[in-house]
Amino acid sequence: MNNIDHILAKRPLIISGPCSAETKEQVLQTAIDLKETGKVDVFRAGIWKPRTRPGSFEGVGTVGLAWLQEAKALTGLPMAVEIANAKQAEEALKHDIDVLWIGARTTVNPFSVQEVADALQNVKVPIYIKNPINADVELWLGAYERILKTGNEQIGLIHRGFSHYGNTTYRNAPMWHLALEMKRRCGDVPFIIDPSHICGNRHMLQETIQKAMDLRYDGVMIEAHIDPDHAWSDAKQQVTPDGLVNILSQIVWRKEDIPTEELHAILLKYRTQINQLDNEIIELLANRMQLVEEIGKYKKENDVTILQVNRWKEILDRLCSKGESLGLSKEFIIQYFDAIHLESIKHQDMVMNDKKI
Ligand code: PEP
Ligand code: MN
Repeated sequence: MNNIDHILAKRPLIISGPCSAETKEQVLQTAIDLKETGKVDVFRAGIWKPRTRPGSFEGVGTVGLAWLQEAKALTGLPMAVEIANAKQAEEALKHDIDVLWIGARTTVNPFSVQEVADALQNVKVPIYIKNPINADVELWLGAYERILKTGNEQIGLIHRGFSHYGNTTYRNAPMWHLALEMKRRCGDVPFIIDPSHICGNRHMLQETIQKAMDLRYDGVMIEAHIDPDHAWSDAKQQVTPDGLVNILSQIVWRKEDIPTEELHAILLKYRTQINQLDNEIIELLANRMQLVEEIGKYKKENDVTILQVNRWKEILDRLCSKGESLGLSKEFIIQYFDAIHLESIKHQDMVMNDKKI
């Protein structure tokens, strides 16, 4: 294992640094202060900034890569930058950048991802892929596959949240279920949380990191700056190096392994019971579908529609209040029974229109 692989294998892996490289002094001082915390494994800084609208600070460009080289020489920290096209990939590699990442606005575009993949053909450099800005696991997976096809074995994924319409407390909604789906589909690939771009503020960073660690993420990419309030980009979400230490010291870093045999036995007992209940749920659902099919036959004989809105509303109202009295959220009950309802409609469609499932 070479040095950078060794560093990236650390758990939890901590990647930190400013949103953007702004000046040489800012880069060097932030790197020195982060190194001094003893908590940071890799230094990050944006050199080319893909901004939603023109006119915002768009990054210092190639000149910043030389600052990162100096920061590496001063601190020994490996350097990570975002790249969005072949030219940036080449520039970064020419300046001994150790780790690359593909940003959320690039992951959405298969042309750009392919261009980066082509530029990195047979290059041995670790590369992390952020989720696309839109809530589409297939696009994220597509970007992963394009890089994988170059023979790169040092790929990681970064969960930075998704754009959404309407208000939420997050800058980019985490949509944890999508990240977990990606984790499931990619297997053992390192999975990093970027709480900075999810939260868009400082006060929710800690709880977001904690949630990721509880879900067995492998590390954190978090923005830090010597003077966050005056940062040229993403000022509200960046923390000082001391702020970073404060946040990280409050995280409970859980492990996946069960420490003792006794605890293992307790978990096993509960898990056996859960498996039994899950089996019963499946059997009950199958029984329910049989009744639904019987109703389908009756509806067919009498030319009645499959969907009867009032009946469905009545079922949901009753189940929501029953669920709530048993400590189950209304949101969960609606999602769960919506899925059952869709499957029921499929079964009745099958019976009424002589289709196969
Ligand atoms: C960044 O890391 O500063 C950045 C631009 O992130 P994202 O691609 O997640 O928006
Ligand atoms: Mn940023």
